[in-house]
Amino acid sequence: MTIQLRGHHLLCLLGFRGMGYSADFSANMTIVYNKLRDEPASRITIVRGPDDLCACFPSDVEPHCHHVSVAQHDERILQKLGFDYGMELLWSDVIERVRTNVVPEDIHTLCYTCQWRSYGVCEAGVRIIKQGEWLPPLPPK
Ligand code: SF4
Repeated sequence: MTIQLRGHHLLCLLGFRGMGYSADFSANMTIVYNKLRDEPASRITIVRGPDDLCACFPSDVEPHCHHVSVAQHDERILQKLGFDYGMELLWSDVIERVRTNVVPEDIHTLCYTCQWRSYGVCEAGVRIIKQGEWLPPLPPK
C-alpha cells in the first residue's frame, strides 16, 4: 500500500511540527509524518487533487482541497522537484530531490499563497534536509 500525496504536501511534511487545521487533521498528519520519518523506504504515489492528508480536512472549515489555486500550487512544486502525477516513489527519493532541487528561500515563491508560510517552519524544514539531516522528531504536545 502506498501513501497518496499531492505535490505541495511533499514540502508541507518537511515543515510539519504538529500544527494543522484541526486536531484530527494534525493527528492524521502525525501518523503519516512518523511513518515517513521511521521508514525512509515508504512508498508514496503522487496524486492529482485531494490525498491522504486532505482526507482529514475538517468539514467545518472552508474547503480548499479542490481549488484551482491549490492545484496550481501542487504543479509549481512538482515542477520544481521534477516529479509528475501518478509517479510511485520512495520517500527517500523525495528527500534526495529536495536536497538537489530546492533551497529554503524557495518556500516564499513556491508557497506564496499559503497561510502557514509566515511561521517559518517549512523554510526551516527544507534547511534541515539540505544540511543532510532527516525529518526531526515532532515536538511534544
Ligand atoms: S508554506 Fe504552506 S504549502 Fe508551503 S510547505 Fe509550508 S505549509 Fe506547505
